[in-house]
Amino acid sequence: MAATARSDTTVVVVGGGFAGVACAKHLGRHGVNVTLVDRHDYSQFQPLLYQVATAQVDTTEIARPLRAMFSRHKPVTVKLADISAVDPVAHSATSADGVTFTGDYLVLAAGGRANFFHTPGADTHAFPLYALDDALRLRSRLLAVLEAAFRNPKLIDQGALNFVVVGAGATGVETAGALADQLERVIPRRVSAMGISKAQIFLVDPSPVVLGPFSDRAHEYAKEVLERRHVQLELGAKVSEVKADRVVLSDGREILTRAVVWAGGIQASPLAASSGIPPGPGGRIPVDPDLTVAGFPGVYALGDIASTPGPDGRPMPQLGSVALQAGLAAAKNILADIDGRARSEFRYKDKGIMAMIGRNAAVAEVGPKRRELHGRLAFVSWLGVHAWLLSGFRARIRALGSWGWDYVANTRASAIIDRPDAAAIDWDE
Ligand SMILES: Cc1cc2nc3c(=O)[nH]c(=O)nc-3n(C[C@H](O)[C@H](O)[C@H](O)COP(=O)(O)OP(=O)(O)OC[C@H]3O[C@@H](n4cnc5c(N)ncnc54)[C@H](O)[C@@H]3O)c2cc1C
Repeated sequence: MAATARSDTTVVVVGGGFAGVACAKHLGRHGVNVTLVDRHDYSQFQPLLYQVATAQVDTTEIARPLRAMFSRHKPVTVKLADISAVDPVAHSATSADGVTFTGDYLVLAAGGRANFFHTPGADTHAFPLYALDDALRLRSRLLAVLEAAFRNPKLIDQGALNFVVVGAGATGVETAGALADQLERVIPRRVSAMGISKAQIFLVDPSPVVLGPFSDRAHEYAKEVLERRHVQLELGAKVSEVKADRVVLSDGREILTRAVVWAGGIQASPLAASSGIPPGPGGRIPVDPDLTVAGFPGVYALGDIASTPGPDGRPMPQLGSVALQAGLAAAKNILADIDGRARSEFRYKDKGIMAMIGRNAAVAEVGPKRRELHGRLAFVSWLGVHAWLLSGFRARIRALGSWGWDYVANTRASAIIDRPDAAAIDWDE
């Protein structure tokens, strides 16, 4: 019987992000034994990483313990392990310390990592924003340069108050907008900020517009808001090198800085390359429309690690909503496999896209027809949608509390330097 077969089946899911959690939850609910392996003991909500970096919310608002998430899903076992190799033939994943997890099915959902596009110095001197640790390191660096400038205003001439954000997609725009808010509203309340008016935020992108995937109207709106908030747009320019004390642009200009945020793109987790599966665009694992990996029966790849074909045959965007829905769709297909039914093609339900630009300013394009909202209404919608998407009632309430407090009081409780390594700057370098 199907129910017996389900309880006899084992699935190893590598990665407890949007895709892995959705897949494991659905399988667990239907009695399938799942081993969910992650290098962290929490699942993180990447869309709000920039808010951790700018101290708008704290870590526990965007990261939830995996064990708490699965406490009511008895067939799901969580294992804390850093997977260093996967074998798509044996359906196994092996950790760096030599523990192997094997199942009847293997689900690869290990996400991605920053793509520096071989830019010299970027991996050493720039701060990527892909994981919670990245956000905490960046928070410490942003606060450290401000403290340095207040301690010794001469450092302003060495770029202490220059902030460079690389990449004008949603993450770059959100980070630049949040930084502008922080410099304009929050920092002056914290210290009598002599010199803060000299702070400059540069947003660099080779594209001629900000927020590329959005409409022309959204491009114009975002540009106008950012410029009004004194963000200097360097569009049509590439960062060709990042040094310890500056970035070099493709036209030869240099910007002195000790705070470079890298929001310039992502590539697949290195596990994709280690799997031996022939790679697709961005090193991602190409999957069939039913999310299986061709040539490797019983193997699925989901979310940012996968190149998932859209209705037009082009890869779907690396979005949380795609990963979440793919996780559920893969779980349904694994249940179909177990029950001997035909698998279904993954059909993404596009609910739209949105990006925050800063206080009272956001853009949203709602639904597949992309109904456009700009300004305060989009700002409130963004807050509502992101609060709703956070995992756990307490996290939602706390995030709403932090946003409300930030909006009214212009103070940020988590603005502390807690990563001394990221904060340390050799000003003589
Ligand atoms: C800064 C930022 C902002 C974003 N904003 C938005 C947004 O506003 N809207 C939106 O829709 N999307 C947004 N995205 C994209 C979205 O967050 C991703 O598409 C989504 O998280 C992908 O889900 P995933 O499950 O594939 O991977 P992830 O959520 O990255 O999860 C991967 C999991 O795998 C684990 N893992 C990785 N490697 C290993 C290993 N070797 N061993 C064990 N475990 C491992 C990780 O710890 C992680 O828990 C944003 C992304 C970023 C980085």
